[in-house]
Amino acid sequence: MTTGIAITAAVAALAALTIVALRLRGAIRQSKADAHAWKLRIEQDLLQAREERNRLLDALGDAFMLVDSSGSIRFTNSAARELFGERDLTDRPVRETLLETRLSKALFQCLETGESVQAKVVLPQQTSPRGDHENRGINAWILDAARLPSSPDGDPLTRVILRDVTAEHQIDQIRKDFVANASHELRTPMAIINGYLENLLDDNMVDDPAVARRFLSVMRKHSDRISRIVEDMLVISRLESGEANSLKIEPFKFRSCITDVLERLESVIRSQSATIVVEMPDPTLILQGDRFYWTQVLFNLVENALKQNPHPGLRVEIGCTSTGGQLDIWVADDGIGIPSADLPHIFRRFYRVEKHHSQREIKGTGLGLSIVKRAVEAHGGNIGVSSTPGRETRFLIRVPMEQKLTGDHAA
Ligand code: ATP
Ligand code: MG
Repeated sequence: MTTGIAITAAVAALAALTIVALRLRGAIRQSKADAHAWKLRIEQDLLQAREERNRLLDALGDAFMLVDSSGSIRFTNSAARELFGERDLTDRPVRETLLETRLSKALFQCLETGESVQAKVVLPQQTSPRGDHENRGINAWILDAARLPSSPDGDPLTRVILRDVTAEHQIDQIRKDFVANASHELRTPMAIINGYLENLLDDNMVDDPAVARRFLSVMRKHSDRISRIVEDMLVISRLESGEANSLKIEPFKFRSCITDVLERLESVIRSQSATIVVEMPDPTLILQGDRFYWTQVLFNLVENALKQNPHPGLRVEIGCTSTGGQLDIWVADDGIGIPSADLPHIFRRFYRVEKHHSQREIKGTGLGLSIVKRAVEAHGGNIGVSSTPGRETRFLIRVPMEQKLTGDHAA
């Protein structure tokens, strides 16, 4: 009887144990499945986070790289890949990628010392990271490298940003050149005025009225030149300020603008026996723009043609037609022309063609065409020039049709 009870108890215990074991196995299987699902979720989240990071870094305009302590590239964004010719740079030594030593020097300094580095490097075109694709002459880069605070595998990573600052560098350069050129242009007439003043006062020439008068008239000529330069510089700076109110846009008859210019230049035209031809199929054409600047534009172009060709018999054509959504305005002459080497520089401030013209004989500051260009651009247009010396020099302005109004609102 006791044995029977013992056996029953043992069987019950065994059954209980089996149930527990089965439950345990079920629980283990469940937790394994759970762990697998978690792992999958975490892997998926990681992948998503990495893709999101890459998307963000690819959206950066600057080239971005992660470099490990041995100098191997671990990550590049799309701007960096584009910069280095769409090559896959992962695991490549950064030394092979940044061949320009002035750029790599700054980076290696950061890799070695762990200290952040920011360096601006100005490179000639052929040594630019963009290499052959570069066609902007010199170019400027900022290399910004800093060690990241921590990395997953303990190997310190350095983030490198390579920023193309060529446009800013060029603007800076233009500003510096402008100040240098303007000072130079102003210094000459000022030195001449000072010289005459010294003569008048220190050498007592003021007592001779004839000499004093001659000196004063020379001084006036040079002070007029200073005023003209300052006036032109103010016009340029007003146009460049980009202020919406720097232009007074209103409708005006373009023909009246031509008439004004020809009236102002009448005595020169007559004295040079120049022929002026106006090609304007629609003489009632109305332009929407700042009449003051359009008069300046035409005046400088026609004055240039006359000034550069003082010989008699010059033919100057002023034309204006509207075609397919745009307005073409041109001034052409059959004079001495502009050598092809000078053509790309002709709209630069203070640029004057040295070759064919004696600078002493033909007056000018070289600011006229840069004002013309800025005035045309301020009206949403552009200007170009072509020249076959001795045959035809043609300045062609293209302005979008919105600048043109057809109606009775002309000033
Ligand atoms: P400014 O207009 O400031 O009085 P400028 O006439 O010398 O001086 P720009 O109008 O800017 O200056 O012209 C620059 C240079 O371009 C001139 O000095 C001249 O050498 C050249 N140039 C311009 N137009 C002509 C032209 N029609 N024919 C020949 N050379 C020209
Ligand atoms: Mg001029």
